[in-house]
Amino acid sequence: MSSTTDDVDPKYTPFDNAVKGYQGLLSIARHDTLQQKAIEEIVRWREVIAAWKREAVEARDESRANYCLGLECLCMFFDAELNMWLLLKDRKPEEAWAKLVEAQNAIANVIRAHKIFSEWQIHVGRLLQIEEVVFPKPRFVSAGLRVRRQLCSICHEEYEDCPHLVGIPYWGEFCWRILSDFTPDHIAFVEKPANKRCRVTYAYLPEGKRNQMTWEIEPYTTEEIERIAKDPSPSEGRNYASSIMHVDDLKV
Ligand SMILES: [Zn+2]
Repeated sequence: MSSTTDDVDPKYTPFDNAVKGYQGLLSIARHDTLQQKAIEEIVRWREVIAAWKREAVEARDESRANYCLGLECLCMFFDAELNMWLLLKDRKPEEAWAKLVEAQNAIANVIRAHKIFSEWQIHVGRLLQIEEVVFPKPRFVSAGLRVRRQLCSICHEEYEDCPHLVGIPYWGEFCWRILSDFTPDHIAFVEKPANKRCRVTYAYLPEGKRNQMTWEIEPYTTEEIERIAKDPSPSEGRNYASSIMHVDDLKV
């Protein structure tokens, strides 16, 4: 990665070398112990990179701070994908799906952080192939919100009035909108959701609820039985009665 630029400090070389090793572990076939060890190492790298980023900011070098932001996102990408493979091997496909989405978001952020990371684009396509081949296609949902006020995460002023733009890095941090005043309006089924973790999780059937990831039929909880008893004839629209939404969907 560093070889594509002249201005990258040799102090980053040990991390570059570690990254080459982690790339070789991005497969379901690799041994759990090695993948786990890499995850533990990445935790330590994140502390090192955070210190590099602070140094860059103190040295008033925004390009370098954004480069360090990219390295942080690269750590998140490796952590998420390695965990995804471990969770799949541990028969936890729902948690693995959440990690896949985390890896996809992280690699997109790597590329946005600094132009030096453009070669990592290849992993965007690779993760999309994993999504399509390894997992069943989820039914995505999206939250409709009425937003009255949103603030900028960089300067904390009204987003509409400030000079920062969502998704652009500034001094090693991405700009995003903080929704400070909003009300949920509706939930919609969508083909391309803002957050792929927001998906239908269960279909309610007379014999139990079918997990939409594993396809297993699971028993209802006592709370669900009580709720169904109060409303014994759900309308067509309630066939898919249970979905999962995430608050970080609001970090847009
Ligand atoms: Zn701003």
